[in-house]
Amino acid sequence: MNFKYVIVGAGLAGITTAERIATELNEKVLIIEKRNHIGGNCYDYYNEDGILIHKYGPHIFHTNSKEVWEYLSRFTKWYHYQHRVLTYIDGQLIPMPITTETINKLYNLNLSNFQVEEFLSNQALKIDEIKNSEDVVLSKAGTDIYEKFFKNYTKKQWDVYPDELDKSVISRIPVRYNRDTRYFTNKYQGMPKFGYTKMCEKILDNPNIHILLNTDYKDVINDINYEKLIYTGQVDSFFDFKHGKLKYRALRFEFETLNSESYQEASVINYPNDYDFTRITEFKKLTGQESSKTTIVREYPTWDGEPYYPYPTNDCAEQYKLYKKECDTLSNVIFIGRLAEYKYYDMDAVVKRALDVFKTQIGRQDK
Ligand code: FAD
Ligand code: UDP
Repeated sequence: MNFKYVIVGAGLAGITTAERIATELNEKVLIIEKRNHIGGNCYDYYNEDGILIHKYGPHIFHTNSKEVWEYLSRFTKWYHYQHRVLTYIDGQLIPMPITTETINKLYNLNLSNFQVEEFLSNQALKIDEIKNSEDVVLSKAGTDIYEKFFKNYTKKQWDVYPDELDKSVISRIPVRYNRDTRYFTNKYQGMPKFGYTKMCEKILDNPNIHILLNTDYKDVINDINYEKLIYTGQVDSFFDFKHGKLKYRALRFEFETLNSESYQEASVINYPNDYDFTRITEFKKLTGQESSKTTIVREYPTWDGEPYYPYPTNDCAEQYKLYKKECDTLSNVIFIGRLAEYKYYDMDAVVKRALDVFKTQIGRQDK
């Protein structure tokens, strides 16, 4: 087989790159995907009860990048959804992230935004250098908020407490001195109107793009003549684990369909301190679908299974650097995406990265 471009993985990194090559360079491209479907971790499908569910956990699209929003909008219309999360603390459902509403509900107060800022700065610990995820919360909101909202959720999610995790992890969750209870404040937010899989199908709808599903690239790559390989799988696996296995955190998903129209008050409810799962998502509340039934998913973090999250500790970052050095020596392979760059990317960042890589490392050179 001859393909100038071969892409490993049909997630957002792989399919965005494929689309750019197929459209802009008018070149044939082969995508090799080991799963039986496209879309990577944002894959969704209708379950046997007719509810659109996300097989690999809830995915909400949000970005500040006009370029990414406009790019994806060529392939989907949007259901203009703004994500809100509640957290179950001491028997109450409290808005998350930490805002004026959170503080007032948690402590049964009626403070203004300004008073909440004052309240939190009185609780905050003075920490000269923010070294880890524990410091992030303690320095903004103090011990009680840290212990109620973050400490045990993080232990469940990552199997270590926040003091062992890179500060970027909890920095994903803001503290706001206002009443904006949205989980994200990005300029562009929404859910693909007909689902992620449909959006991905549209991205791939180009006669130059060929897809081989159910195939591990290692089983076929030696039979293909190619000039450039774009690799979006696990970086450690690419190098046959020569620097050891990188840690990835996995999840076990427990889906349940209920014979009722609604299950919970918000699309996502976090459970930092109770149960073994971290959160429950009710899909209809994300997608706006109407049905007399509803499907929920509980997420149980685990070490076994699919590699969902790169592990954000210093040791892992150091180990990844050894692989990155190897990547940099290969001029005919480009590594993109959450698994290949061992980076806690959101969807928009993966698409942005693929668009940038195309512009700087593929399009210009090879045109
Ligand atoms: P992936 O989607 O993982 O795609 C890589 C593909 O490569 C996979 O399909 C895999 O099967 C394939 N592959 C791997 N190895 C091989 C091989 N050897 N041969 C052939 N194929 C191979 N982002 C958001 O923006 N918003 C959210 O709300 C959000 N929620 C998330 C919730 C969960 C539980 C998780 C795990 C992630 C979430 N994300 C979210 C992140 C989002 O999933 C990723 O940013 C994005 O999907 C990564 O795309 P990717 O192409 O890099 O990787
Ligand atoms: N987090 C927490 N409590 C929460 C929500 C998040 O401690 O109620 C921490 C936890 O460490 C988590 C990180 O913040 O892994 C990032 O949260 P986010 O919701 O962005 O996680 P994701 O959706 O990527 O799983």
